[in-house]
Amino acid sequence: MFRSHRELICRALHAASRPFRIVRRWFKPGGAILTYHRIAPADSGPYGITTTPEHFAAHMEHLRRTCRPMSLTELAACTSSGTVPPRAVAVTFDDGYVDNLLHAKPVLDAWDIPATVFVATGYIGGEREFWWDELEQLLLGVRELPRRLELEVSGHLYGFAVADPAHREALLWELNTLLRGLPAEARNAALTAIRSWSQAVDRTREDRRPMTAEELLRLSSDGRVTLGAHSVSHPDLSCLPVAVQRAEIRESRRSLEALTGQLVAAHAHPFGFCNAETVAIVKEEGFELACAAAESSIEAGDDVFSLPRYIVRDWTSPTFRRVLEHHLVDRHPARTL
Ligand SMILES: [Zn+2]
Repeated sequence: MFRSHRELICRALHAASRPFRIVRRWFKPGGAILTYHRIAPADSGPYGITTTPEHFAAHMEHLRRTCRPMSLTELAACTSSGTVPPRAVAVTFDDGYVDNLLHAKPVLDAWDIPATVFVATGYIGGEREFWWDELEQLLLGVRELPRRLELEVSGHLYGFAVADPAHREALLWELNTLLRGLPAEARNAALTAIRSWSQAVDRTREDRRPMTAEELLRLSSDGRVTLGAHSVSHPDLSCLPVAVQRAEIRESRRSLEALTGQLVAAHAHPFGFCNAETVAIVKEEGFELACAAAESSIEAGDDVFSLPRYIVRDWTSPTFRRVLEHHLVDRHPARTL
């Protein structure tokens, strides 16, 4: 996957500064943005983005009892003004899976924790699974596959050997990387070709479908959950021409604002990937903040158009506490809150 030199340098500098940021949190307030994807019963899928409802409930209880949960926009405003309060944490979800409404919302309500759900708006309505889930089904959800896949993508012919079933997961990641950098039409054409090759049954799994418009309205109706833009088709924006990036970013926001009648202030880059043009577009389009890929804590003065987030896995309560306490929030004891 191609990255600009500037982006690579920024990432390297961010990584190099990590030890200093951890040490500074002993002395200086600092918080975190947490990212979840699916909240659902245990899932052995390849992506590792599902947290069980039991673990999620334990995470939220810990946040409410020992941290200062706040909305993402509030945390970004504190970051800009240089006044991040001790142990500030914002909770976010990516993509718009239906389980966010079914399993996460009741827990957020029970512990009174605000959250932002970033929605890939092209999938609202749930007619198809998100493209990475569909790709998983096409490769891992069938008993037999042809031994070779030939795929034409944007005028290039790619060949993949599928001789051993054990190679399927490696192929999944190879194709995932190839498809994420494509504009929507080219990706859909590739998926159609893979579907025809795989002969997998064309079905949308109920437990991982995207939310409908009505479900998104229910999720956000009481204001505890805010909706954020996450592109239309969920590409790696940094691989796309500026005009395509702008259309993805603008249309995602427009759809959500038309649906809810509310202004959409936040954007999260799909996969966390962006380049200088992506950041410029998000600013020009009038967003207040954007979230990027770096897994790190938040400090006062951080750029609110490249806010780092930490992806939470299906961690037990002790693991969640360890990550939060040792890597993300500052060392103010909970009793001072
Ligand atoms: Zn996403």
